[in-house]
Amino acid sequence: MTSSAPSAQGRPERGPHAAVTAPVRRGYERYARQAGQWLRGYEARGGRVYCGAGCFACCDMPIRVSLAEALITAGALSPAKARAVEAHARAALANARTAPDDEEYVRRHRQEVGFCPLLDRETGACSEYDSRPTRCRDTFSAFPARFCASGTWEAMGRREQDAYRREVARTPGTDGEVHFIAPLEHLSEPVWVAAARAMRAEWGLEVWGDFWVLTTLARDPAFMARVAAGDHRGAWTVAQRRGLAHRELLELG
Ligand code: SF4
Ligand code: SF4
Repeated sequence: MTSSAPSAQGRPERGPHAAVTAPVRRGYERYARQAGQWLRGYEARGGRVYCGAGCFACCDMPIRVSLAEALITAGALSPAKARAVEAHARAALANARTAPDDEEYVRRHRQEVGFCPLLDRETGACSEYDSRPTRCRDTFSAFPARFCASGTWEAMGRREQDAYRREVARTPGTDGEVHFIAPLEHLSEPVWVAAARAMRAEWGLEVWGDFWVLTTLARDPAFMARVAAGDHRGAWTVAQRRGLAHRELLELG
């Protein structure tokens, strides 16, 4: 069923899953306004944020999304980018199937699965900036990018790690443990809530998981038909047939 719903700019959003994607787009718009306001206040009080165009050391992290967010990214991709996203999803799945624990899963994702295929390696910019998911919108660093890069912590000596902890503890805006800006992560919580509510209301189920796996499945009409019918077993079977099912990278329920 094709439905329409008000989009972020007030224009009706069209498409078979508009009732699910429109609340998320509105959440993105609201988040951009609120985060901008928070950042202006933070910088006026002497705070510094190191994120900016061309900075991408964080683009090799695993990313968890809702299917509502993945639909937005999926709808923006060219066939070539969709193929690159699927290849990345398969690499993430291979890692998930063999990693002995979460720590090793994250380490291997960052160092072996590697950077998101939507990253433009020449400019360091996100090539799908307008349709990037929530996690890519709400990650801000109060320290320079080298502290976000994979392997930096492990390469530090004990004294450098202690100095890092002291510096984080006295930096306003962090949670006192890591150098990312905590209030800007909390501000995005309504986007997650909006996605969950919209999926539950429209499909009677929620779908969460790995960004690249869900973005690939979001482009699969058979998978989306089962989701839209509220058939989580059928959706799982479609994903399984495509080799894209994994309990931690695809959560249906
Ligand atoms: S989180 Fe770190 S790596 Fe990512 S844009 Fe900000 S400073 Fe750069
Ligand atoms: S979607 Fe864009 S911002 Fe997010 S990880 Fe990929 S390249 Fe980076």
